[in-house]
Amino acid sequence: MYSAAFVNKRLYSAFWKCIDYFYPPHCAGCGAFAYRFCPECRKQIVYFSQKNVCQVCGSPVSQGQCQTCLHIKFSIKSIKSLGVYNQSLRKAIHSLKFNRNLALGDEFSAELAELVLSTTWPVDLIVPVPASRKRRSERGYNQAEIIAFPLALLLKLPFSTKSLVKVGETRSQIGLSLAERINNIQNAFSADPKYVNKKNVLLVDDVSTTGATLNACAQALISAGAQSVYGVTIAKAILNTEHSDDLTQISF
Ligand SMILES: [Zn+2]
Ligand SMILES: [Zn+2]
Repeated sequence: MYSAAFVNKRLYSAFWKCIDYFYPPHCAGCGAFAYRFCPECRKQIVYFSQKNVCQVCGSPVSQGQCQTCLHIKFSIKSIKSLGVYNQSLRKAIHSLKFNRNLALGDEFSAELAELVLSTTWPVDLIVPVPASRKRRSERGYNQAEIIAFPLALLLKLPFSTKSLVKVGETRSQIGLSLAERINNIQNAFSADPKYVNKKNVLLVDDVSTTGATLNACAQALISAGAQSVYGVTIAKAILNTEHSDDLTQISF
């Protein structure tokens, strides 16, 4: 478990500014020089109006809960995302996930912190959605950790990668229905009561689609004694719309 006592957000951001100075970045959305994510690409983000999303899974609805959440009982209390997983935001997440563009975690942390602070969630521990040991060693890092760490620094909350682990491999969630996704990912995670007992946990990930992965993490945390679990992601993929092509790009 890391604490903000050792590193603070200003130090963390200063570290990335130093890296930017010596190795100027290119925008993760359009390639523009000297930006991590340029103003034009930021303008393309379709932000969710938090009044018009399902209060459980974060899907766009006129009010209340979506049809799915009225019928399925999720273990996770609520999931919120900044914007739709398309265009520049999709490119930025790909760049963070596959091209080692690690400074992007810092880039989105202020907006994520604002989103969390706009809720009444009683969070006291930040936990990134874990990757399997195999995936983590292939990639060298877990993008959810890269997003969650600066967020924890900003919110001045403890951050833990030990409290929740992914046990074994699951098949890709691409092309599966919600029921299949829930089944596929069930029992994929294991939480340690030593860290999570009686805690209100905020899970952090890059993208959510149906919320099945975050929900499976929440189940494991609650089985280990967590009091309540919430989730926040940079983007949410919208199913069955013109954005459905994007879903071929998602892997969990
Ligand atoms: Zn750009
Ligand atoms: Zn819902």
